[in-house]
This record gives sequence, C-alpha cells and structure tokens, in this order.
Amino acid sequence: MREVRVIDFHTHIMPDWVRREREHYASVDPCFAALYTNPKAKLATAEELLASMDEASVDVSVVLNIGWTSHEMCVRTNDYLIEAASLHPDRLIPFCALQPASPERAVEELQRCAASGARGIGELRPDIQGFSLADSSLLSPIVEIASARQMVILTHVSEPVGHAYAGKGTVTPEQPYRFAAEFPQAVLVCAHWGGGLPFYNLMPEVRQTLSNVYFDTAATQYLYSPDIFSVVERIAGSDHILFGSDFPLVSQERALQEMDKAELGSATRKLIAGENARQLLSHGGTQIERA
Ligand SMILES: [Zn+2]
Repeated sequence: MREVRVIDFHTHIMPDWVRREREHYASVDPCFAALYTNPKAKLATAEELLASMDEASVDVSVVLNIGWTSHEMCVRTNDYLIEAASLHPDRLIPFCALQPASPERAVEELQRCAASGARGIGELRPDIQGFSLADSSLLSPIVEIASARQMVILTHVSEPVGHAYAGKGTVTPEQPYRFAAEFPQAVLVCAHWGGGLPFYNLMPEVRQTLSNVYFDTAATQYLYSPDIFSVVERIAGSDHILFGSDFPLVSQERALQEMDKAELGSATRKLIAGENARQLLSHGGTQIERA
C-alpha cells in the first residue's frame, strides 16, 4: 500500500446522454451554459474518471453534480451519480445536486439521495441557481437534514477580484461566512480555496466561526501560485484543506503535480491529499481504509 491515500474531493461526472445533447442543455440551463457552452470544455463519464484515477493513482473521488436550475435535471443527474457510485462503492462517493429555490422538492430529493448513498450536497451554485447562502430561512430545512446525517455541503466560491473565467460567478467570501455563522453545526466545503475567505482566519472571531469550514484546492493552477498551499496552511491549518482537482477541467495528474510544486511537509501532504477527507466522510459512515 502506498504511503499516502489520495482522495480527490472535487470531480464532476456527467451521463453520456447529457454530453450527446450538450447544445440542448446549454440552451435550457444557465449553469450548464456557463460551464459548457465552450465546446472545448470537457465533460466526463464515470468510466473516464475511473480511468483517470487509475492513471494518476487517486484512490477515491468525490463525484459532484452541478447547480442545475431545474429540479428535474437535479433528479435525473443525481440518479446517474448514485448509480455510478453504487457500481464502484470503494472508489466513488456521490454528492447530489439540489435546487433550494424549490424548498419542498429539494428536501424530498435530499432525503431520497441520502437514502441511496449520497454523502453530501454540491457543487451548489447559489448565484446561478437563484438563492443566497445567507438566506437562512430558505436553507435551514436542508441544513438540518444534512447535519443530522453528517453530510457535507460543498459550494462554489470565487474571488471578488482578479481575472474573469467561465462560471466564476458572484458567490464571494461573505456568503459562505454568513452561512457558517448561521449554521455552525454544518460541515461546509468552500471550493477553489473559498475565493480568499481563508485570509480572514487571521481574525480570531472569524477563525472561530469557520471551525467547520474546509477549503478545497479545485482548479488551483488557474487561480493561484502554488504558494497558496503553504499560505492557507499557515493561516487556516492543514487540517482544513482538501485536495480537489476539478476534473475534467483539470486532469487529476496535473492537479497532483501542482500540489507537489508546493513542497509540503509529509505530514501536511498526507492530511491534504486524503486524510482530512477520509475523516470528514467517515463521520457520516463512509469507511475508507487508512493508507
Ligand atoms: Zn466550482
């Protein structure tokens, strides 16, 4: 067995029937359009992810959905993620898409997915889906169920500054901060290093509020220099960082190389590469072997 268990906390897979009709889905869904209107933006199936995992020596991947606007598309694609994970239970961990703007149906879908093995919710796209992470009355029924089942909530977050990119959006650090303040019991993962949120961990009250908030490394190479690893390690702690690639946007191999450039200490690398994820997911009953 290798020294380090690698868990990729941020991958996206899509059924082939979506890929075949990508122009159609781009014309009806704003999130799909933002991410995949460009014909060069890759879409990958579960089989392609598994091949990538074998190639890059990734042991386990969290498979995320996207922020579909229609409840129906959430349900249809959740089915695909859940089925793929049930065929490869030791390698794929499914999260489900929800449309919180239709709260009753979202609650029903969350319960259905949780009963079928989903271990989290995400990747939420509050801006494109038309709600705010700061809307506590809208989100409290969902958060209550997720917390009771020890499920993880993963949201896209982006920087209020810097270059524009397809799908960057307007969910900037104050939204997840307000969410964390409102729901201290919820386990929240802020994608893409939280759009700069970790910086505010230097404020003691923010550090306290963010104690259940984790940051994933998805798409690092497009956003930050590799120094981001050691900087966030210093200010938020290596126990709050989760390796994620954003496959297929970034290849898993390439994302691991990017992490290697940060020249992390071996204990830190072990935590970020998989141990933090293993512990987080084991609270909800997903047993992943230690390295
Ligand atoms: Zn994202």
